[in-house]
Amino acid sequence: MNLARRVKDVLDSPTLALTSKVKQLKKEGFDVINFTAGEPDFDTPKEIKQAAIDAINKGFTKYTPSAGTQELKEAICEKFKRDNSLDYSPNQVIVSCGAKHSLFNIVEALIERDDEVIIPSPFWVSYPEMAKLVEAKTVFLETEPLNNFKIDLKKFEKAITKKTKAFILNSPSNPTGSVYSRQELEKIAEICVANKIFVISDEIYEKLIYDNQKHVSIASFGKDIYDLTITVNGMSKAFSMTGWRIGYLGAPQEIASAVKRIQDHSTSNPASISQAAALAALKMPEDQVIKMREEFEKRRNYMIERLDKIKKLSYIKPQGAFYLFCNISQIKMGSHEFAKKLLDDTKVALIPGKDFGRDDFVRISFATDLESIKKGMDRIEQWVRQ
Ligand code: PMP
Ligand code: GLU
Repeated sequence: MNLARRVKDVLDSPTLALTSKVKQLKKEGFDVINFTAGEPDFDTPKEIKQAAIDAINKGFTKYTPSAGTQELKEAICEKFKRDNSLDYSPNQVIVSCGAKHSLFNIVEALIERDDEVIIPSPFWVSYPEMAKLVEAKTVFLETEPLNNFKIDLKKFEKAITKKTKAFILNSPSNPTGSVYSRQELEKIAEICVANKIFVISDEIYEKLIYDNQKHVSIASFGKDIYDLTITVNGMSKAFSMTGWRIGYLGAPQEIASAVKRIQDHSTSNPASISQAAALAALKMPEDQVIKMREEFEKRRNYMIERLDKIKKLSYIKPQGAFYLFCNISQIKMGSHEFAKKLLDDTKVALIPGKDFGRDDFVRISFATDLESIKKGMDRIEQWVRQ
């Protein structure tokens, strides 16, 4: 089949594929422990669901402006101001069908064939594929566990060329859980400003942060970096709303307008009902988000406690998101073989690190209940011992 060149090398999403496989196995009656999940296991809070039901009943079921309703964009501006010290006006905000869609729109709006995009590795699986879809060149910036998987600034500067167009920042990070401090981000911002590189700042795990750390938005450091940054966020992780498909971005006016035009001619508006739900989510008190965050922290702590007892596995303590990136190098197996054997032998499913750029690691999600985590860790412990 004569497919377009840009799509030929693009891979399926391994995270989505494995998550679906586990759901299917469960349906077939297998007692699978699901450590693949890239989504909170909690139900969407009932106030949010009610807002969607009300929207349907009131007939709020038609097209909205393609970049989202004015009310939702205003609520997002308030959120950016309150949580991130960021001033965006509603016409700088674009609401899309998930943060993944926001990210893809930005890549389309900014990056041309043969432009270079710097992506710290380990990386979330979709970043390199998005770059491939616009025929850009991905430049991976290797990071090391010893440095908590954060970039080395000298290496960063070295990776920059005349063709570098953008840098993708993801703090808290999927899959490593690392969180950049204000000082670290300030230095990254300096480099990006000096070299006029756009920063695509994926802050989707902002609310899931532990050990009293604080999330900082890179665009808040002043006009120079603000003018180069697109801040991406969404409803999926903080509000347990993965299926509703609402993400958003704040960007300099010209970029936001470009993204709006892309959306005008591709998807139009994200679902009106989901927008009503997102508005309710942003307006409600944060106690439910905090409750979920506390629960994730408990699970993380328990998982770490268990891993500490398994000599052949080590990890870097995640400070955000809901993934534990676990070093399997002492097992002497590639991560795909590890994941496959573990699933075949014990029915514990996790994601091979190779898909995130590190074959000596696997990603274990703790977005599942404590009971399952306990069961899963029992199985892993026994399996590794054998
Ligand atoms: N960025 C990262 C790092 C993610 O892990 C995800 C999870 N799918 C997304 C963006 C996109 O989330 P969504 O499209 O559900 O908003
Ligand atoms: N981001 C989540 C993950 O990494 C969800 C799946 C996806 O969109 O890739 O598992």
